[in-house]
Amino acid sequence: MANSTVLAGGVLTGNELNFSAGPGALPRTVLEQVQQAIVEVPGQGLSVLGLSHRTPWFRDVVDEAAENIRRLLDLPSDFHVLFLQGGSSLQFGMIPQALLQTPQDRADYLVTGYWSARSIEDVSRFGRLNVLWNGASQGYRMLPPAASLQPDPRAAYFHYVSNETVEGLQFSEIPGRDDVPRICDMSSDFLSAPIDARRFSLIYAHAQKNLGPAGVTVVLLRDDLLARCRRDVPTMLDFHRHVEARSIYNTPPVFAIYVLLLITRWLRDEVGGLAEMAAIHQQKSQRLASVFDNRPEFWRLHAAPTARSLMNLAMRLPTPELESQFLRDAQAAGFSGLEGHRSVGGVRLSLYNGVTLAAVDCLADFLREFEARWDTAP
Ligand code: PMP
Repeated sequence: MANSTVLAGGVLTGNELNFSAGPGALPRTVLEQVQQAIVEVPGQGLSVLGLSHRTPWFRDVVDEAAENIRRLLDLPSDFHVLFLQGGSSLQFGMIPQALLQTPQDRADYLVTGYWSARSIEDVSRFGRLNVLWNGASQGYRMLPPAASLQPDPRAAYFHYVSNETVEGLQFSEIPGRDDVPRICDMSSDFLSAPIDARRFSLIYAHAQKNLGPAGVTVVLLRDDLLARCRRDVPTMLDFHRHVEARSIYNTPPVFAIYVLLLITRWLRDEVGGLAEMAAIHQQKSQRLASVFDNRPEFWRLHAAPTARSLMNLAMRLPTPELESQFLRDAQAAGFSGLEGHRSVGGVRLSLYNGVTLAAVDCLADFLREFEARWDTAP
């Protein structure tokens, strides 16, 4: 077995010690089913890579995946569940194109980190961009309290990113107004905890963090917002077309959607639902906090304590040399994916659904041991 680390009573594989920010770790039981499906999907006699998207089997895959997401989130019946391509980055453009009908139409955006800064790039092509709050000058270390914001009641919509993957900031409350369509990029915390879906008009999240491999993006779109979406746009960018085709307008990423289905089954049957998933994330966070909060001058967490994410922890160590040493030693010990985003450097730990408590315990031991070694260095 390549790259495995022995942990009290068991062996963790390289896949389990993958703390990458995405694509990230997937549960071992799902990987085993995927391995089998690459050769032959049970009952189908064909590889998942060779099964047509026009088979009844694939229609059922899409429908069950959508139904599982509905149930996991307790989604009201007026939401459409779509599986689209183009990643979350396509939604950055597809959403303003669909909803800003005239150049005078305005949209409110929060800029709270690297990804929300990217989310505004296309908006002005279609209407007026209003950045309601921008954390750039503070180095994206904190999030605005929802009560401090003054969203525009006449905005076409309000957009924010629930978890900033690069900086490790996560909202613990829902900003915006309930009488203005609220749109959220949940790419890095979707299906990690229950949400109050009723307060959103559109939610999107690519799969490659908590839901499966890259290639598919989940869009939850409420019917009253769909009614406002333009139709005079290129067909592949028309939300109506995708709703009408129930996510099989052209050839979708069959493999990615199949793995996503397996993840939703895993969340339902093995984890037991999103409340249980959230409880596991809390435990992971506590186990790591006991390391970091003990030595804040060593583990220099980027996020202000009130904005700290349960999904990603970005940090610096006292010197760049120590960071390089840390990454080298971590790799030698079997861990991967710990380097910070190319825009900020340093170290980042990502703790998505597929990362187990056992893996986090293993990492916490390694962190303590690394810190102790530094303490005793000559
Ligand atoms: N939003 C967030 C919060 C992200 O973390 C990322 C990528 N990591 C994106 C959007 C962009 O996603 P994609 O690569 O699927 O376009």
